[in-house]
Amino acid sequence: MGDQLSPGLASIVTADPKRDRILMAEIREEATYVKHHKKKIAFLFAAMRHFAGNLVEAGWQVDYVQLDEKENTHSFSGEVERAIRRHKPQGLVVTEPGEWRLRTAMESWSKDLGLPVDILDDDRFLCAREAFADWAEGRKQLRMEYFYREMRRKTGLLMDGDAPEGGKWNFDAENRKPAKADLFMPRPARFDPDDITAEVLDLVGNHFADHFGDLAPFWFAVTAEQAAAALDHFVEKALPFFGDYQDAMLKDERFLYHSVLSIYINAGLLDPLAVCRRIETEYRKGRVPLNAAEGFIRQIIGWREYVRGIYWLKMPDYVEANFFDAQRPLPDFYWTAETEMACLKAAVTQTREEAYAHHIQRLMVTGNFAMLAGVDPRQVHEWYLMVYADAYEWVELPNTLGMSQFADGGLLGSKPYAASGNYINKMSDYCADCRYDVKQKTGDDACPFNPLYWDFLIRNEDRLRGNPRLAQVYRTWQRMSDDKKTDYLKSAERILSNLS
Ligand SMILES: Cc1cc2nc3c(=O)[nH]c(=O)nc-3n(C[C@H](O)[C@H](O)[C@H](O)COP(=O)(O)OP(=O)(O)OC[C@H]3O[C@@H](n4cnc5c(N)ncnc54)[C@H](O)[C@@H]3O)c2cc1C
Ligand code: SF4
Repeated sequence: MGDQLSPGLASIVTADPKRDRILMAEIREEATYVKHHKKKIAFLFAAMRHFAGNLVEAGWQVDYVQLDEKENTHSFSGEVERAIRRHKPQGLVVTEPGEWRLRTAMESWSKDLGLPVDILDDDRFLCAREAFADWAEGRKQLRMEYFYREMRRKTGLLMDGDAPEGGKWNFDAENRKPAKADLFMPRPARFDPDDITAEVLDLVGNHFADHFGDLAPFWFAVTAEQAAAALDHFVEKALPFFGDYQDAMLKDERFLYHSVLSIYINAGLLDPLAVCRRIETEYRKGRVPLNAAEGFIRQIIGWREYVRGIYWLKMPDYVEANFFDAQRPLPDFYWTAETEMACLKAAVTQTREEAYAHHIQRLMVTGNFAMLAGVDPRQVHEWYLMVYADAYEWVELPNTLGMSQFADGGLLGSKPYAASGNYINKMSDYCADCRYDVKQKTGDDACPFNPLYWDFLIRNEDRLRGNPRLAQVYRTWQRMSDDKKTDYLKSAERILSNLS
């Protein structure tokens, strides 16, 4: 599969090039069950073709089914069935897929196809699904921080004997600096498409023209060697500042000090543990500060593993979660970028052009707005799954439904990531160029996030009032005059009635 492009994949490691054959297929159903961003499809097909080429060079027999091959059935099960007819194997060995949908399909293969199917654990993750379920068992509350500490102990990353390096597990308090435009901003490493990638770009342009997003310019790495060069580039140029400016946003700097490596890690071009070991080495050699190294490693062995654990623990019901019973359709500007809200316009435009937005844009701009406006979380989830090159359901769904929409009622986060314009103004330079005034709380020129923030809290008071982390916020509301409260709610009503 397109996200299994690792030579160390369990099903490759257990196979024998003299006896076994590797099947890879470009499947239309996978590219269209939600209409993925053109750049994502191009990245995956290009990376798959390069990976297949490397396997052949290494002596493997590879059956590679291209998208436009006449007999391509365009479904995984269909391609497996055809391959069985071609080769009459004694059995199938697969590495577990990242999505519930595919796992369910695979589990029926043995019966449907009449031969043994061995589904191996994906050991590129540190925490197997069962191990996460054991960790979660019997806990009143699941919190990433405690899981993360176990992963630190398990891997030995940034440990000083039994204690965390530097005396603290988490240095996030040092990671909240707003960036200034005059700082030096490295850009992610870019790679020119070779002939194989150019062919894929033509294919994607022809077959998926109606999908969201710009295909060109295409600069992603498509091989493990290029992804390793992208990692080197990040480590050298951006990692030292990664922690400090992790939450910052600048309108002319789409990547800031982020790594832009999730695309490669999720597809298998980079091994997550090896990446973390490399980051630790940089710290130990004194080349990056601890807050940067710890912050980065936490995202990978903490958040990335944790959201995967939650996904498998809670699926298949998780996708239906809708704690606030939010029903509004996703506004059109999530596709067109036609909005006067400068922050949203920037985030959606960049998403269309790059198939990338960094975490705070996803969480505090597009995610925050959708939650405040009461958009149906299922539609929000499908949008995130479609528009980002790093999106796979196991990681996207808990981040969207849980972290950003609080649709799971607090399983993933202890309170909703709801914020007024003040937060965006503090962490970005968007507001200076916005038609709305971030300082105005109500009225036609007020930043829409301001009245929507209160409207969201009041609309959902029954569900949120008992949350101790929101007690102070509700006390502030209580202290407001009735006129002020009415102004907020009326302003919000006007904004919401104009959303389409
Ligand atoms: C609504 C929403 C949807 C998201 N959807 C996805 C998604 O589909 N795929 C995805 O990989 N990430 C997703 N994330 C998490 C995070 O935003 C991206 O991993 C990050 O922006 C990728 O960019 P980067 O490589 O520059 O990350 P960096 O900021 O450089 O972080 C380093 C690495 O840590 C990992 N990481 C960081 N945060 C998270 C997280 N919350 N969950 C899992 N891994 C994390 C990634 O592998 C990332 O490459 C989502 C977050 C939100 C709020
Ligand atoms: S004023 Fe409000 S809408 Fe405009 S950029 Fe700032 S936060 Fe976004």
